[in-house]
Amino acid sequence: MIIVLKKTVTPQELDHICQKVRELGLTPQVSRGVERTVIGVIGDEEKLQVQPLEVFPGVEQVLAILKPYKLASRDYRAENTEFEMAHGVKVGGKKIVVMAGPCSVENYDMLFDLAKIVKKAGATFLRGGAFKPRTSPYSFQGLGEEGLKYLRQAADETGLLVCTEVMDTRQVELVAKYADMLQIGARNMQNFDLLKECGASKKPVLLKRGLSATVKDLLMSAEYLLSRGNFKVVLGERGIRTFETSTRNTLDLNAIPVIKKETHLPVLVDPSHGTGYRDFVTPMAMAGVAAGCDGLMIEVHQCPEEAKSDGEQSLLPGQFEELMKKARAVAHAVGRDI
Ligand code: PEP
Ligand code: MN
Repeated sequence: MIIVLKKTVTPQELDHICQKVRELGLTPQVSRGVERTVIGVIGDEEKLQVQPLEVFPGVEQVLAILKPYKLASRDYRAENTEFEMAHGVKVGGKKIVVMAGPCSVENYDMLFDLAKIVKKAGATFLRGGAFKPRTSPYSFQGLGEEGLKYLRQAADETGLLVCTEVMDTRQVELVAKYADMLQIGARNMQNFDLLKECGASKKPVLLKRGLSATVKDLLMSAEYLLSRGNFKVVLGERGIRTFETSTRNTLDLNAIPVIKKETHLPVLVDPSHGTGYRDFVTPMAMAGVAAGCDGLMIEVHQCPEEAKSDGEQSLLPGQFEELMKKARAVAHAVGRDI
């Protein structure tokens, strides 16, 4: 349910309506748009049958949102969500943000060197995993807190922001201490306790689409974050499992316009995991930009054959610079910037 308020609504009327919603055991989420202010009503809407809210001063209309995701839907917020982070970085605006770095943080020197390279090429975030979700328990699992410290230091020395994965509710506080953005990985997209915890942390979140998740599933998971009051959410398309075996995953470019239509949240494309092979990363990054993404995530490594994870899909520094030039040209062609 959303309550659409009159243009003339006063702060007192707004408070009064919110108070009433709370008295009914529901939670009001106020969204102030350019055109109108609306209140999203969270909880068991049956309770609204008892108390019709149309009659309250300041209310224009009460609308049922038929979509199962409410706060994430365009009905709730018509304008694109845009939020500002440190260094004046805006996420969801005209400028496409680029997160780049190694799949795993391996040591400080390689990370610092890569941070300088990706910053120079125009990236805004340093990405790298300190906690790694590996298919095999015998594969490298990440450096843990040591990796987080390296990320923070390398990013601070180069003027980048940090985006890194959090895998478990018990790590949220720790990762949030070092990171600017928490990444919820594909394998954890439906870890609902993790979603609740990241929602409550109020840190910006990159929520990646699960390997077999539909766009609707992804939006329902985003709803968990939003319903905890965290609207600084970016959705990540990173490829899905299909019958195709010539690439690691199938990057679902359809998802970008679909997501943009359904939700106000920004969307990022990850052609590294989406294709799994270095040669395909740049064309699919360009395709992502052409399709309307708000961010790119690219894995880069100085020596991919020695990478502790995802070497096959990691670009060499020179290839990343090339990608940035090509993606920038596409961005300009579609009225965006990188
Ligand atoms: C990653 O970004 O390194 C990663 C593991 O991504 P995903 O969760 O999309 O597989
Ligand atoms: Mn990876």
